[in-house]
Amino acid sequence: MGAARRETYQVLIRRTEIKNRVEAVARKITRDFKGQRIHLIGVLKGACFFLADLAREIDLETSIDFISVASYGKGKESSGQVRLLKDLDNSIAGLNVILVEDILDTGLTLNYLLNVLKQRKPKTLCVAALLDKPSRRLKPVKADYIGFTIPNEFVVGYGLDYAERYRNLKDVCILDLRKQ
Ligand code: 5GP
Repeated sequence: MGAARRETYQVLIRRTEIKNRVEAVARKITRDFKGQRIHLIGVLKGACFFLADLAREIDLETSIDFISVASYGKGKESSGQVRLLKDLDNSIAGLNVILVEDILDTGLTLNYLLNVLKQRKPKTLCVAALLDKPSRRLKPVKADYIGFTIPNEFVVGYGLDYAERYRNLKDVCILDLRKQ
């Protein structure tokens, strides 16, 4: 039998900082796509709060859709494999697509998703990621819009989970798992 674990967390990025940064990213997107329609694709489930807040700050004709992939299991380490769990509801052909991710880590998920979406002939395809952990990258992918660059820590909150918990924390927090 393994030792019990005690989970504690500490705030890394406060809700007010998140709000300010999301507004700034939305302003940049609004400027970059002035006069055009955009189509936001949220990667479930982690990006759902970021997408909801971002979409409401963007001053453009905007539509949304969601896609779901499995990359991490119940723990903190990636399986290294990505698989499609839920596809888009609608075609993206001819649209200005912005893929909205919670966090860019090894890049395996984003690399997989970009390959899938490119084949569907969007007019343009770019990426908005709330968080970026560049030190962990295994694939040479990058986001066009980044909320925060963070150190190599496992974070939860504002949509990010640990075994499906903590998504509803208002701040982005570092999760600490210690053996008791
Ligand atoms: P990647 O494929 O870039 O390694 O990882 C992307 C996915 O892994 C994210 O969408 C997220 O679901 C998960 N992930 C990566 N780093 C973290 C982290 O620090 N915390 C949480 N909760 N999930 C993470």
